[in-house]
Amino acid sequence: MAHIIAVTNQKGGVGKTTTSVNLSSSLALKGKRVLLIDMDPQGNAGSGLGVIPSVSDLTIYHVLISKVGLDEVAHDTEVPGLKIIPSNTQLTGAEVELVGTFSRETHLKRALASFKSNFDYVILDCPPTIGLLTVNALTASNGVLIPLQSEYYALEGLSHLLETINMVQASLNASLKVDGILLTMMDPRNNLCRQVEKEARDHFGDLVYETVIPRNVKLSEAPSHAKPVALYDPSSRGSKAYLALAKEVILRYACGQDIVLEKSHVATKGRIVGPKRRKNKTKHQEQNA
Ligand code: ATP
Ligand code: MG
Repeated sequence: MAHIIAVTNQKGGVGKTTTSVNLSSSLALKGKRVLLIDMDPQGNAGSGLGVIPSVSDLTIYHVLISKVGLDEVAHDTEVPGLKIIPSNTQLTGAEVELVGTFSRETHLKRALASFKSNFDYVILDCPPTIGLLTVNALTASNGVLIPLQSEYYALEGLSHLLETINMVQASLNASLKVDGILLTMMDPRNNLCRQVEKEARDHFGDLVYETVIPRNVKLSEAPSHAKPVALYDPSSRGSKAYLALAKEVILRYACGQDIVLEKSHVATKGRIVGPKRRKNKTKHQEQNA
């Protein structure tokens, strides 16, 4: 069964798209069958892989609004095993158009129902808002990956996101879990970055991925060459970090995720307490990742 991961954080520019594109590519390069869905009207996930739909092309908008099948909209990419469903600015209209529709939060889930069996992982690149597009992504997912930029206000707004995730868990998707929090754009020489990492690990414990994504210029250059970093510069620190993340994601999934984010972990009066520990990984699972 496909593991469906929503990459989300309503904060803009924290590395959602960079993570979606490069995690998807790294999972595919590890032999997994991967579908990346661009749920953001900015369309950056598609353009980062060289798929830029014109106004007349079918996109995720038509899947959500006109019930076009995902198979009609999926494009191959340069990475073997990775397909992408692109978006463009037309998707902005979906936020409004979905409002009056039947079961408006479940359109993506219903579209994925039969198509997901073709994949090991489906990655959803969410927009920097908590609207119906993000709620559709959360309702369709099993897991959530939250990129956190290593900067001063990183944790601000996180409690609102966690509340939304808990709301979706309670009313729309009981199987939704937070897979992990990913520190992005880390500069280990910067004191502030190190402080943010410490604070995140103190608050969220094992929920924070061991892998940290460094600030690396190759990651910001790769999209303008329409390539994931693993093809643009495989020896770069950014490429190695996303391959390590893919390994950790596979391992966590194989172990059976049992880090539970309970209501009590969400900020009450600004305080956030740590989640339960997860199972220790076995040697066998580590070798297979
Ligand atoms: P939005 O909220 O607008 O969708 P986002 O959360 O998807 O943004 P990205 O587009 O992935 O964020 O990244 C924002 C900018 O930071 C981009 O220019 C990207 O190339 C750059 N960037 C992301 N991660 C890194 C990194 N680890 N090192 C250097 N630059 C990075
Ligand atoms: Mg983005």
